[in-house]
Amino acid sequence: LESFDVVVVGAGFFGAVIAEQVASKLGRSVCVLDRRSHIGGNAYSEVDSDSGVEVHRYGTHIFHTNSDTVWRYLQRFTYFTDYRHRVFTVANGRVYSMPINLATVCAAFGRIMSPDEARAVIAAEAAAHGAAGINNLEDKAIASVGRTLYDLLIRGYTQKQWQTDPRDLSADIIGRLPVRFTFDDRYFADRYEGMPVDGYTAIFRRMLDHPKVAVELGVDYFDVADRINPGQLVIYTGPIDRFFGYACGHLGWRTVDFAREVHDVADFQGAAVINYADAEVPFTRIHEFRHLHPERAHLGPRTTIYREYSRFAGRNDEPYYPINTAADRAMLASYHAMTAAHPNVIFGGRLGSYKYLDMHQAIGAALKTFEHEVEPFFAGDMRTG
Ligand code: FAD
Repeated sequence: LESFDVVVVGAGFFGAVIAEQVASKLGRSVCVLDRRSHIGGNAYSEVDSDSGVEVHRYGTHIFHTNSDTVWRYLQRFTYFTDYRHRVFTVANGRVYSMPINLATVCAAFGRIMSPDEARAVIAAEAAAHGAAGINNLEDKAIASVGRTLYDLLIRGYTQKQWQTDPRDLSADIIGRLPVRFTFDDRYFADRYEGMPVDGYTAIFRRMLDHPKVAVELGVDYFDVADRINPGQLVIYTGPIDRFFGYACGHLGWRTVDFAREVHDVADFQGAAVINYADAEVPFTRIHEFRHLHPERAHLGPRTTIYREYSRFAGRNDEPYYPINTAADRAMLASYHAMTAAHPNVIFGGRLGSYKYLDMHQAIGAALKTFEHEVEPFFAGDMRTG
């Protein structure tokens, strides 16, 4: 470990992109550590040997971006299919298209509406509720989608996600909920979207396949941190609070549990992701991965599904979604102040920055960090050395 120019903690997108850039652009040596037994971080994919279907162990991952830079960069490591993600929500015995679009509105109200009629119905419901102002998540959601759609599609789902009545949740944990007054039912509106032809893990294998890059799996950074010397650059993509021994407290996260099932049918639900909005149904979603690759004609007669259950993360759980309360933000600011004492450590990625990042954002941030922080670190090195 001591002999590498750079030590990258975490083999997810943020760490892998930095490692690839350091090796290919600077010709410097990199050691990538991950405490898990695999590369890829949360984007890791593997073939389920019981069904032959490639599954995403940490939940369905769809690649989408508006960034030409990120899209062009990834083309070096994979081809993409033309997969377009569409999501459905089961509520009260019926199935609806998500995110809310004109088809959802017509189905929820049981009649055909023009875009203007739908807009007027929702605006009237929002206005009827909104007189007392926006005091909690429920008020904010109703202001966006009206009472009918909120009760049907949002209330129970949100309650399950947060294990909290939406009236007791702060309005600022959600943005404005989108409603499309067209029949456009694509989940993402980005210019580029697709699935990597041979899976996500293959992207990471190619990124890290360089003579200057070594990968050590099953290694926790904190078991080897005393071997780092001050001249080495560390890219740390683990949880920022753990780096500082939780000195200012634990940042809040939600986690999800996945219950895997293999079924003796070729198609369990007809789509990759179906949400379950009713509060009485204990899971929030069912993922069926074979639908992510309809082009894979060779798949057999069995299918793998994951039921997803959402809850607050305990100390030993995988952190998935930052809760980001005002107390969390204050704690994060204290940790940021502490980073100044570690000039050879760059913090990044979703855990290191305590931010929900989509894959394209993690990749884009890593490319920028490389350019603005990693390259200058070594440029300085050359001037002084
Ligand atoms: P990670 O992928 O989490 O990688 C960090 C790595 O650091 C991990 O492998 C971890 O084991 C390692 N690590 C942490 N601490 C240590 C330590 N002390 N020592 C050694 N290793 C350590 N994005 C999309 O674009 N589309 C999607 O559809 C999508 N779906 C998602 C669904 C779910 C359920 C979740 C949670 C996320 C989803 N994302 C999606 C986001 C995507 O997973 C992230 O953008 C991506 O994982 C960020 O990469 P990262 O490198 O920052 O973090």
